[in-house]
Amino acid sequence: MNRIILKERLSCPLCQSGENILARRGVLNDGNFTIEQLAKYWIRFIPGGHFDYFKCKACSSMFNKYYPCEKDLDALYNKLGANMEVYSEPEILFETQKKYANYLFKVISKTYKGDLSDNKKSLRFLEIGSDDGKLAKACLGIQLPICQYDCIEPNANLKNQLHENLSIYQGLKSNIYRSLSEVSGSKNIKYDLIVGIHVLDHIADLHNYLIQMKDLLDKNGLMFFVFHNPNSLLTKVLRRFWPPFCSQHPQLITRNGMIKAAAIQNLKVVSTLKTTNRINLKQIFRMAGFKINKGIGLLNHGFDLNLGNHGFVLTHKKDL
Ligand SMILES: [Zn+2]
Repeated sequence: MNRIILKERLSCPLCQSGENILARRGVLNDGNFTIEQLAKYWIRFIPGGHFDYFKCKACSSMFNKYYPCEKDLDALYNKLGANMEVYSEPEILFETQKKYANYLFKVISKTYKGDLSDNKKSLRFLEIGSDDGKLAKACLGIQLPICQYDCIEPNANLKNQLHENLSIYQGLKSNIYRSLSEVSGSKNIKYDLIVGIHVLDHIADLHNYLIQMKDLLDKNGLMFFVFHNPNSLLTKVLRRFWPPFCSQHPQLITRNGMIKAAAIQNLKVVSTLKTTNRINLKQIFRMAGFKINKGIGLLNHGFDLNLGNHGFVLTHKKDL
């Protein structure tokens, strides 16, 4: 059995500072694991089931100094297939996606106001981590002239479902890619919006990933990201039981960290928001390890909760 190979990431992936302190010890740090052994930490939340998190002294973001190399990560994700543990139901998840879409509607309407009202502009979207297309459905349901909606979804098991969900929109151009580099290499396209909900926390080589995304963004285009905030109240309350402290997140990004990363990439922060998620009690009990199938009454009632996530909208910094 081959042991995984860990890659060094000694400076902060957000602000590049080399000053940091050990903040949260994890059980995976010695790297003495095979991919098969690591997989069980990937599919469900196990408190402490992560690599050691270091806190950057300059921006307070947290990151793993040692993380599996890209080749091992690819092998790991291929092994997982569609078996990720899901605690929530499609209708509840869709409610959260609708909120993101409504927010995007406001930001995009403001950015392209004249062009949109004169029907001069049609929009090209790229979504990273599309899953089965819930955000796409929410975005395509709002009053925006979207002519192209491309998706990146590495999980091949979701591709058919995603394709089917997008094919109902007549006249919509849509491509499904497996990776960002596949988009960059395929053709010379620029997008008006690149969106990634809970994507940046998963990217081991964040610096280069941001460069690739920036290259695909139109000169007036927007990027919208939502990610977990390690400075949130919920983090302080739950401590090691905060679910984002897990093997899938090589970094947890603070507001300050994102601002510094944007400055390094010559990107401007257009707006920020604290996001809420639609959730129900059944989901909370499932995450705590209870086996609940259908649930009754109050258990199914959805409500909005601030889970300690934040959102950022970025654009190219214009030369003065
Ligand atoms: Zn930093």
